[in-house]
Amino acid sequence: MILAGLQKNSFIDFPGKISCVLFTTGCNFICPYCHNADLARGEYPARFELTAIMEFLESRRGMLQGVAITGGEPTLDGGIFDLCRAVKALGYPVKLDTNGSRPGLLRQLISQHLVDFIAMDIKAPLNDYSPFSRNPNIHERLTTSIRTIMESAPAYEFRTTCAVPFVNETTVETIAKTIEGAACYVLQTFNNRAVCLDPEFNQRRDPTLLPKMMQRLKSLAEPFVSRCMIR
Ligand code: SF4
Repeated sequence: MILAGLQKNSFIDFPGKISCVLFTTGCNFICPYCHNADLARGEYPARFELTAIMEFLESRRGMLQGVAITGGEPTLDGGIFDLCRAVKALGYPVKLDTNGSRPGLLRQLISQHLVDFIAMDIKAPLNDYSPFSRNPNIHERLTTSIRTIMESAPAYEFRTTCAVPFVNETTVETIAKTIEGAACYVLQTFNNRAVCLDPEFNQRRDPTLLPKMMQRLKSLAEPFVSRCMIR
């Protein structure tokens, strides 16, 4: 597996842990607001072989508390199994970010005890994914991923990037009902500073929701999940 990036330290990518972040390349989604446009398109400025990553992780034992794997979409490459296995063999917990489009692979990773934390994005109500995916059957895949994660992941969170025009009171409430009973739902504030996959996206009008609206969305989602937070 070729990794496109390595962030050596992060305090925010693995809840409760100081981690490094590994970036995979390529994505099967087309989210207009994607901040990792180069990675999503499969264009990568650097390459890291697995052996180089393992040497780095070996040297950071005792300093790092976990490894976060993000993308792009990490589940597109079957090499994710070897990567997780190698990272865990060094004693690091693994956190995986995913768009939820590969439920079968998620199930295997969980059943083989290769992931310790899964963060799945839910970008919109599941029947309204056309701005994000060209797959007409994505609804079923996402539903299966949500069920799989809630039933069997060791720890997890669902996340929604709150950007206009995709997110409003109705969409957040619908999503929260879809994941009713979930351990954790995170509403992410959109950052309008980075260039998006669709370069026109953040130039038309500011897609950022004001803090007051973020609080309102949180209050709407809270009744359906164990914990809801704004990040
Ligand atoms: S934000 Fe969307 S396009 Fe970008 S990496 Fe994530 S799933 Fe892929």
